[in-house]
Amino acid sequence: MSKWNDRLSPQVRSIAPSGIRKFFDIAAKMEDVISLGVGEPDFVTPWLMRESCIHGLEQGYTSYTANRGTPELRAEIARHFMKRYNIDYNSETDILVTVGVSEALDLALRAVIAPGDEVLIPEPCYVSYQACTTLAGGVAVNVPAKIENEFRITPEELEPYVTNKTKAILIGYPNNPTGAIMEREDLLKIADFAEKYDLIVISDEIYGDLTYGDREHVCFASLPNMQDRTILLNGFSKAYAMTGWRIGYALGNAEIIAAMTKIHQYTMLCAPITAQIAAIDTLRHGEKYMKKMVAEYNRRRKLIYDGFKKLGLDSFEPKGAFYIFPNITSTGYTSSEFAEALIRTERVALVPGNAFGVSGEGHVRCSYATSIDKISEALARIGNFLKNHRR
Ligand code: PLP
Repeated sequence: MSKWNDRLSPQVRSIAPSGIRKFFDIAAKMEDVISLGVGEPDFVTPWLMRESCIHGLEQGYTSYTANRGTPELRAEIARHFMKRYNIDYNSETDILVTVGVSEALDLALRAVIAPGDEVLIPEPCYVSYQACTTLAGGVAVNVPAKIENEFRITPEELEPYVTNKTKAILIGYPNNPTGAIMEREDLLKIADFAEKYDLIVISDEIYGDLTYGDREHVCFASLPNMQDRTILLNGFSKAYAMTGWRIGYALGNAEIIAAMTKIHQYTMLCAPITAQIAAIDTLRHGEKYMKKMVAEYNRRRKLIYDGFKKLGLDSFEPKGAFYIFPNITSTGYTSSEFAEALIRTERVALVPGNAFGVSGEGHVRCSYATSIDKISEALARIGNFLKNHRR
């Protein structure tokens, strides 16, 4: 171990590198790999947004913007939330435009966590939740969600983990990695729980537009009495295929948003102006493109869900995001062994469920944000693997 490792911050030393990356690195060295591993749309950002950005550049928009984001974009975000969820956010005080939901998540945690504060985190969950809580000086308290309940979380499961240090709960539905959603009645119970223990709710709704069938996403802040205690995180990466633009936002109580803005001011200054210009047109005119992509994800979702059923790998039907989380315990492999053996023998990349928390063990995450042809070929290869590799 080099002498520098001992001199790194203890928080940084205590977090592990993302478990997703390892499989990208293996895949990068192989040919003819089909990746169900990345949580990223395979679509290019629609031309509308690209053109809007190019136009902005032609006009000479290359400067910093206001720390909180341009007034036009904040006004558009406020309009969007009023129209879609009937929630009233003041664009002057309640909205902060960030460098992706990633930055918004980091700011939310850093703004509210005092050293040693505990954050309840239902898992399996997105890899950053625990790491960002630790980096903010908090204690991530993982609460396992159950497959029997399609990975929805309940107050009964959360209650035993509450202590006098519990400050917040961090939820992400539709969920990465499981594809689970929470119905209105499930969320209402979490709202009662948050009120009972006076918790701040950080709700990552980046996949809020990606729900399937007749299910409408329920925004946590739209539930009775929840707007004030909720820090709502959202962005453009997933629904609009804009991962590389690095643009997201946080909505919440003016005092919390002011605190987040203070950190953002010193660490990021502002989100990229080019992305902010495109984001305005995205909210004004982008919905039809988003709906087309969602319809295509839905087609792929059905194909992969039926495919796993036929292969005898159990999975509940995912109702949101673009992931499916089949159970692979019948193969006799752990999730890491399964993922590693599958990529080496059949050249299909997916992510072991334990990368998303211990309760993800026994599952693998497959992203269906890839073409129908590739999904069909991946299913055939996985079928081949199962024939030859059951223990
Ligand atoms: N939240 C969840 C649940 C995600 O899956 C991701 C990306 O995979 C992010 C946040 C980060 O998104 P962004 O590109 O807006 O930083």
